[in-house]
Amino acid sequence: MALERTFCIVKPDAVEANKAGHILAHLEAKGFTLVAFKKTTLSRATAEGFYAVHKERPFFGELVEFMTRGPVVIAVLEKDNAVADYRAAMGATNPANAEEGTLRKLYAKSIGENAVHGSDSLDNARIEIAWFFAGSEVTAL
Ligand code: ATP
Ligand code: MG
Repeated sequence: MALERTFCIVKPDAVEANKAGHILAHLEAKGFTLVAFKKTTLSRATAEGFYAVHKERPFFGELVEFMTRGPVVIAVLEKDNAVADYRAAMGATNPANAEEGTLRKLYAKSIGENAVHGSDSLDNARIEIAWFFAGSEVTAL
């Protein structure tokens, strides 16, 4: 398997609940290396752009409100097969369907407020990492 990087957002619900450190520690324990991370607050334009693929969906306004209501922690995670393994560690979008031991089972409240984001492909991981981290903040892979 190839060494990959993926992009993680600890969403405002989990940061508000003081679970950001728990979530990063959970991922380290699963073998992910933290290449870079920082706490920031998404602007409306950033949240709208990030989730632009969902802009026609009925929940888009609610999603942007949620993602901008407080700080997030964003991180670059590195591991063999990082993209798929992190999606597995996150669990299903709706925590009601998430497997035991997944981050969304442990920390998510609802399908809207679901604790974490993860890139859904290697191409999107590259785009998302480059959007949120300067080259000077991320060592070469
Ligand atoms: P993410 O992109 O945040 O990692 P995901 O890939 O599991 O999540 P998507 O289908 O891309 O799920 O949805 C993006 C986000 O939009 C979800 O994580 C959730 O916060 C929100 N969302 C998705 N479906 C709904 C819904 N039916 N009602 C409210 N919010 C939703
Ligand atoms: Mg998604």
